Amino acid sequence: MRLLLVEDDRLIGDVLRSALRLEGHAVDWVRDAAAARSALAGERFDLVLLDLGLPEGGTPGSPAGGGGGGLGVLSWLRGRRDATPVIVLTARDGPGDRVAGLDGGADDYLVKPFDLDELSARMRAVQRRHSGRAQTALQHGGVRLDPATRQVTLDGAPLLLSAREFAVLQALMERPGAMLSRAQIEDRLYGWGDAVESNAVPVYIHQLRRKLGSGFIRNVRGLGYCVGDAAGSPE
Ligand code: CA
Repeated sequence: MRLLLVEDDRLIGDVLRSALRLEGHAVDWVRDAAAARSALAGERFDLVLLDLGLPEGGTPGSPAGGGGGGLGVLSWLRGRRDATPVIVLTARDGPGDRVAGLDGGADDYLVKPFDLDELSARMRAVQRRHSGRAQTALQHGGVRLDPATRQVTLDGAPLLLSAREFAVLQALMERPGAMLSRAQIEDRLYGWGDAVESNAVPVYIHQLRRKLGSGFIRNVRGLGYCVGDAAGSPE
């Protein structure tokens, strides 16, 4: 997933970013409300992890908001009719904050300090609800990918994939029939400031084909990659 982490605490932010990257996510980290609005106005994220107690900050040209920390960012986001899933991270544990977060349009919340495994599980649950899938595992042909256990099997036999091969395959299997461009796949693999290896996506695709059989991922030159029959033009 491509994640936006909004957290002003450097230690917590650093730990979270490292842990989420290890799981194969692309993580962009901003530290104040203005930078969060700016990021959300300009890019598409699969999920936002939003701290509530945030400084307003302010970068030249960033979209103006009404202050209000993380809750302000949330109401600004929903005011734009942007349904990007949001999990609120809060140090406060008063029921008032949780209610305000959920009523403000958050999909879930976690009270700090929280367990990283619980965060991962909630991220998956929110993502599932958002994409309208009740099943945890993705299945196409003989290939089954389970985001919860991070296991991939081919005709029932376990396959060993690297974190990035897994991320590429998950992106494709979440939208069977949809053509994903190389840039769309790169978005899932890299955050800002990550050096994008120029040939990385074709290399991961090549490795996946070697493991899954060459016919599983289709490549339409100039358009991108897809699992299953391409339903139409790329988005
Ligand atoms: Ca904070």
